[in-house]
Amino acid sequence: MTVEFISYSGAKAGQPNAHMIASSGGRILLDCGSERRSPPGYLGEMERPDVLWISHAHGDHCGALLDLMEKWPKLVVMATKDTVELLRVALDGGRSASISARVDAVLRRIRRVPWRQFRSLPGVEGARIMAVEAGHIPGAAMAVLEIDDGGRTRRVLYTGDFCTHDQIVVKGAGVPVFEGGVDWVICEAMLANDKEADSLEYRKEADALRLAVEEAAGPVLIGVSSIGESAEVAALVGGTKKRVMVDEYLREVLEVSREALGEERWSKLTFGDRRRLKGHLSADGVVIAPGDQYRRKTAAAVLAEPLISDESATIVVLNRARKKTGAGRLLSARRGGLVDWQGRDVKLGASVIHRRLINHAPRWQLKGFLSGLGAEKTFLVHGTTGARWGLKRALKSDGFEGEVEVVEVGERW
Ligand SMILES: [Zn+2]
Ligand SMILES: [Zn+2]
Repeated sequence: MTVEFISYSGAKAGQPNAHMIASSGGRILLDCGSERRSPPGYLGEMERPDVLWISHAHGDHCGALLDLMEKWPKLVVMATKDTVELLRVALDGGRSASISARVDAVLRRIRRVPWRQFRSLPGVEGARIMAVEAGHIPGAAMAVLEIDDGGRTRRVLYTGDFCTHDQIVVKGAGVPVFEGGVDWVICEAMLANDKEADSLEYRKEADALRLAVEEAAGPVLIGVSSIGESAEVAALVGGTKKRVMVDEYLREVLEVSREALGEERWSKLTFGDRRRLKGHLSADGVVIAPGDQYRRKTAAAVLAEPLISDESATIVVLNRARKKTGAGRLLSARRGGLVDWQGRDVKLGASVIHRRLINHAPRWQLKGFLSGLGAEKTFLVHGTTGARWGLKRALKSDGFEGEVEVVEVGERW
C-alpha cells in the first residue's frame, strides 16, 4: 500500500493525538495534539498537512489548533458542526479577549462535515472523508477516509475517542459497514486494560447516581469535566425532582446538547455564578460545577470546601480520581476521619459517592468493534503500552486474523 501512516503524538495513554495519513495525493492530519503534553518539538518535525481533521473537542485532540493555524495559515480544517461549537469552549476556556478573537477567526474557517456523507478533501487528490458517530461526547466522530491508491480505493478508519454503548445524551458509536471492508483502522485503546470498566454497565451506574441524588436530604455537589460529562450529568439529574443549578460557565456547552436534553429537562436547569451556586447549596439544592477531579482552584473544589464537614452533604466524584487530586483525597478518607484538603486537615462529614459514567470503549467493546471491522491492519493508539499489548494478545487469542500494531511515536508504516 502506498498510503503511509505516521504518529507524531498520542500513541501512549494521556498523550494528545496527532496522526498522519499520507498518500501521493496529499497529507491528512488526524487530530493535532497539544503543545503542552505532546512530545516536545512534535510540530517542528511534522510535514505540512493539507487537511486537518478534528475528531472531537477535547484538549488532547484539538489543543494545538491555534498553533497549527499560525504555522500553516492556509491549512484546511474539517470537523462536525457540534465539534466546531464545542471547540470555542475547549480552546478559549475563559481566556483573554485576544485569544477569543483568534479562536473566532479560526472557527469561522472550519469546514463542517455532515454525518454519513462523503466529502472531498480539498488539496488531497483522490481522497474523501465521511464522519460517523463515535459516541463519547457530543459531536465526536470517527473519520472514514477513502484514498485512491493507483486505481484501487484504500479505506482507513480513524476512531478518535469512542464508545459503542449509549449514554443519556450521546448515543453509542455506529459501526460502519462497507462492501470490501476497511483496510486500516487507527483505534484508541484508553480502557483496554481497565478490568473494572469491562464489567460496568452504564445504565446501572447512571441509575445509582440518580437514586443517590434523589435520596440525598442535604446539598449535593457534582464536579464534572466541562465538555461531554456536564451534559450527561445535567440530563441525568435534570430528570429528578430536585432543583438543579449549573455553573454559568457550562451554559455554552449545554446549549449544544439542548435539543438532545429535551425542553422539559432544559427548563428545570437554572444557571448561576459562584455566589448563587453557594446559596443554592445552602438551601440543600443540587449543583453541577466544572472540576471533575476536584483539582485545586476549580469551581467544584471551591464549592466542596464548606461541604466536607457537613454531615448532610453529598459530594459526587465521577470517573477518574487520581490520588493527589481533591477527588482522590475525598475517596481515600473515611467518614468521620480527616481529609487533607489543600494543606489543611478537615473532618469528613459528607458522604462521598464515586460513580463511573465511562465514555470510552472498554475491552469487550474494543474486541467486538475491531473483530466486526476485520481490518487488514489495526493500529492501536491512545492507551498505555501495556494496555495496547494486552488488547493485541486478547484479539489474537480470539483468532483475530488481521495484523495488530502497537504504535510508537515516529514509526512509519
Ligand atoms: Zn475525548
Ligand atoms: Zn482522548
